[in-house]
Amino acid sequence: MGKVSNKTYESLLERLIRIIHEEPYDRESYVDLICEICYIYRLAKGETEFYRTPMFEQRGEGEVFCDFDNGRADKVVLKIRIVSATKAVIIGTLYEEAKAEERSEEEILQLDTMLRLILGFVSRMRLLRKIEEFGFSDLDGFHNFRAFARYLDIENSEYRLGGKVAFHIDLHNFTIVNQEIGRENGDLVLRNYYNLLQEAICGMGIVARLGGDKFIGVFDKGLEERVYEVFSGVPVAYDEEGRKKIIISAAAGVYVLPRPFMMRMYGDIMDKIMLAGNIAKNANGGSIVFYDEKMKAEINNIKKVQSSFRQALKKEEFQVYYQPKVDIEKGVLTGAEALCRWIKDGEVIPPMKFIPILEMNTYICDLDFYMLDHVCAHIRKWLDEGRGAVRVSVNFSRKHMVDIDLVDHIIEVIDKHNVPHEYIEIELTETTTDVLFSDLRRIVNGLQEQGVWTAVDDFGVGYSSLNLIREIPWNVLKVDKSIVPMDDGNSDSVSNKMFGHVISLAGDIGLQCVIEGVETEKQLEILKQNNCRIVQGFYFDKPLPLEEFETRIDRKTYIV
Ligand code: C2E
Ligand code: MG
Ligand code: MG
Repeated sequence: MGKVSNKTYESLLERLIRIIHEEPYDRESYVDLICEICYIYRLAKGETEFYRTPMFEQRGEGEVFCDFDNGRADKVVLKIRIVSATKAVIIGTLYEEAKAEERSEEEILQLDTMLRLILGFVSRMRLLRKIEEFGFSDLDGFHNFRAFARYLDIENSEYRLGGKVAFHIDLHNFTIVNQEIGRENGDLVLRNYYNLLQEAICGMGIVARLGGDKFIGVFDKGLEERVYEVFSGVPVAYDEEGRKKIIISAAAGVYVLPRPFMMRMYGDIMDKIMLAGNIAKNANGGSIVFYDEKMKAEINNIKKVQSSFRQALKKEEFQVYYQPKVDIEKGVLTGAEALCRWIKDGEVIPPMKFIPILEMNTYICDLDFYMLDHVCAHIRKWLDEGRGAVRVSVNFSRKHMVDIDLVDHIIEVIDKHNVPHEYIEIELTETTTDVLFSDLRRIVNGLQEQGVWTAVDDFGVGYSSLNLIREIPWNVLKVDKSIVPMDDGNSDSVSNKMFGHVISLAGDIGLQCVIEGVETEKQLEILKQNNCRIVQGFYFDKPLPLEEFETRIDRKTYIV
């Protein structure tokens, strides 16, 4: 074979430029062209290497791509090493066979030009891949929402979504897992659980992390059994050898996409799996809840609440109701809990109808601060009127935990009204399985340093961790109505015994106990026998509107 003609070279060059600049990149035409070039220039092998930095190059840790190899490579014909602007090292090497006809100087120059073009291209492609990896995965390397959304877009454009199964899961008790085996091992559990899910889906779908211990995904019909098994509980390893294992299960919301299915927006899928997931989460125990059309009304309700919230807040439609706390030893009013009511078109809407919805995003945080602001204004008014104000507890959602400046924000509001800090108590609920212990400790400590009281709410519901009351310096333990003894005369029941122990334990470590949900005289008797002192319940008063509560402040006493 003789010298490659200029015409051939120019045509190869033109095709190469076109392929490497064309969008989308066509891998097949690229490889075909490389083979053709190698054949025309009598090469046995062409190879490119990519190293992220010169240090990686020294250690030999990089990626090698061999685009052509006839298996008879012998001598190096041309080797080019370039360092990109981002310090990546890209090396291209061309080999010839032992007895191949030599290339002219001009031919080597032509190869040099083409190889440089190819190296620039490899560098750009690698960079794009990296950008893509960052764009579609979170800092821990899990697929993120964007990866999930891209998957949906692609499948949707090919009309392939119908019949697939979408899900949202929230791992059970993950805070406790973290507490028990440590944060680092907890991370490993997350990673391994994600891997188990991916194995179950085996490439026929996608799993992505929404954040924390929450995942979403879609998979093909037929894989249900394998995937649901992972939701229901599987042993997950948390050491390198895979010997230490912990059972992990999840609350799952599942939506089986109808056939045919056309997605107009991500909400068509997200709303449904989130809603079913929420129901699963509140259903206690390892449960899978399937979305069905009856839940549609609920979705509409959620949208209605969320879209009218801002305006309602502005129009002051939310009102503070006060439920008295009574000292049953002295028969006097000793405090109150602020409970929110939404007064809409003359109707009083109870919190359970809107608080869980506002907790789906951060609206709840605005509402809690609105409540705190109004409570402070009322306390200031009572103090100014010489009415004998009492300490008021305000509920703060777990959604605040991520706010590092939460303590400062609370103090700012209290100080704005010039209210002495000890008049405010912040109630945080103990069923916060997804809130990290350390965050809770930081917040409670911070409030305490400022003289603001703190209470752990709903103690006895769900997983009542003793660590929670041993390691965090709360002022008050609010015992939930579910473990308050019933007046059925069964004083030997397990819950009665548990109740007695909780009360004496709290007393031992200097925690004030407030018993919630007391409705009958008989219950009151039992509480007295157990040395309980502060009681909040319908027996004394329901949550009252401001004016009515003020009559209780003025009266001060209760018959006990
Ligand atoms: P919670 O903080 O545990 O409040 C106590 C709930 O028990 C109140 O329900 C109260 O009306 C009810 N209760 C009190 N005594 C009795 C009784 O003797 N028998 C029975 N059956 N129930 C009694 P409510 O007002 O419906 O509030 C429900 C939950 O909504 C609250 O539970 C709290 O978690 C949440 N919530 C209310 N207002 C706010 C708020 O401003 N912010 C936040 N984040 N959550 C709030
Ligand atoms: Mg409360
Ligand atoms: Mg409570």
